[in-house]
Amino acid sequence: MRPLRDAQRDVLGAIAPLEPVRLELAAANGLALAEPIVALHDLPPFANSAMDGYAVQAADVAEAPVTLQVLEDVPAGSVPTVAVTPGNAIKIMTGAPMPNGADAVVPVEDTEPGTGEVRILVGVSTGTSVRPAGEDVAAGAVVLEAGERLTPARLGVCASLGYHRPLVRRRPKVAVLSTGDEVVPPDTEELGPGKIRDANRFTLRGALQDLGVDVLDLGIVGDDAAELRERLEQGADQADVVVSSGGVSMGEYDLVKHLLAELGSVEFWKVAMKPAKPFAFGQLGKTPFFGLPGNPVSVAVAFEQFLRPALLHMMGASYLFRPRVWGVLAEPVVTDPEKTVFLRVSVRPSDDGRLVASLTGAQGSNILSALAAADAFAVVPVGIAGLDAGALVELEMIQMPEARTAAEVTDG
Ligand code: AMP
Ligand code: MG
Repeated sequence: MRPLRDAQRDVLGAIAPLEPVRLELAAANGLALAEPIVALHDLPPFANSAMDGYAVQAADVAEAPVTLQVLEDVPAGSVPTVAVTPGNAIKIMTGAPMPNGADAVVPVEDTEPGTGEVRILVGVSTGTSVRPAGEDVAAGAVVLEAGERLTPARLGVCASLGYHRPLVRRRPKVAVLSTGDEVVPPDTEELGPGKIRDANRFTLRGALQDLGVDVLDLGIVGDDAAELRERLEQGADQADVVVSSGGVSMGEYDLVKHLLAELGSVEFWKVAMKPAKPFAFGQLGKTPFFGLPGNPVSVAVAFEQFLRPALLHMMGASYLFRPRVWGVLAEPVVTDPEKTVFLRVSVRPSDDGRLVASLTGAQGSNILSALAAADAFAVVPVGIAGLDAGALVELEMIQMPEARTAAEVTDG
């Protein structure tokens, strides 16, 4: 058996980042930057008011209440035409540039506006309600590094700094197919004897969509070498990566081994992990190929351990794996000391702030319902044959569940 870490190293070593392209921001969510974002100017670009109110000299209103003459009115998007001098103020809106001479803003709530004048009711100190130029980002600062993925907030940063077509790695296209004579489409009304509906293609499609990659759905292929060959060639031709499920376990390996040897170089691995021990990886021509096992939980685990990091690497992302946090097991578990074991668990915070991991059901690699209820894989390393209830365990978070129903908010 190949240690998991070695298998991951071999996969990542065979995957190269895709070429950089310039994309409109609206098309770049989730993609990794291929250039650093360096601020070419301060953000905000000019000192401006943080409140609707009156720009003043703080020293002038120290003895509030005082009455000041209002020189002009500056809405956001306009610029002051005169400076603030002692005895005077300028009416200013949030985001409008600070006038010369002014060093503070008195919020409108602390004033009594009159005609051509304003009564300042509360004094302010220098700098109050003023946002200095460069407060957010100073000119010259590296705000985002190459390899960081664009999140909604980072798209906003790029936009603010004028990077409207950032250099990113292009979005990969991934071809997905299911294999097996027993596998039929999910809209099959009457399951024939021995048939099951295709789960894997939809688990994979969803996971790929979450990652922001494009999907080419190649459907279901029976255990037929000629048909499989045609579909794999199509995938290799039209996509950046081909992923199949099923047909890589010992029983079926002979059917595809020969075929894959003709199409490229694909190796069949036994990885020291549970589930997802059988796994095929290699190239169809120049296109990376991932042959995942057929069992639905194995598909999800192999996706997380091999395909997702490989795709993120291809997308040029620096960080490839899901975050791991420590939690405590709610119950004892028995595991295979020869393998890295991924247990399906739900994760809930306890009253003392610790994360508690509970098994979501039976741990067979066919138990899709336990996968569906899981927030994390509890990772039990090689060399450990089991853990007691209360033991610390690493949790690889595959989702963060939403919190608080409408009823909890409205009744609370
Ligand atoms: P295999 O790896 O092809 O030997 O398949 C292992 C197990 O996974 C078998 O019980 C298959 O019936 C099941 N399986 C294979 N493909 C799928 C699929 N697309 N959806 C659900 N179960 C599947
Ligand atoms: Mg099969």
